[in-house]
Amino acid sequence: MTVGRDILAVVVAVDSPLGRVARAVDVLSSHVPAVAQPLVCSFCVGSGWPCRSFLDAAQHVNDRGVDVGMVVPVDLHPVLWPQKKPAARVS
Ligand SMILES: [Zn+2]
Repeated sequence: MTVGRDILAVVVAVDSPLGRVARAVDVLSSHVPAVAQPLVCSFCVGSGWPCRSFLDAAQHVNDRGVDVGMVVPVDLHPVLWPQKKPAARVS
């Protein structure tokens, strides 16, 4: 059994950038994988992650100028954006 993540409801103005994509953020968040299984969608049975529903919702959010990274758990950022690894320190 997959245990999902804790969630939080946030109140924002409907006509704010986040308010305008609230439904897409809800969809996106429902397709976020559990901590123990970062490559498996916790909503779509038998689907890997990121799944199609997540990607479609994320595209909608991004197209309206909201940073998808602000609504995706940080531990999943390397899965979505592997090229954004921190630069190595030069001493
Ligand atoms: Zn899914």
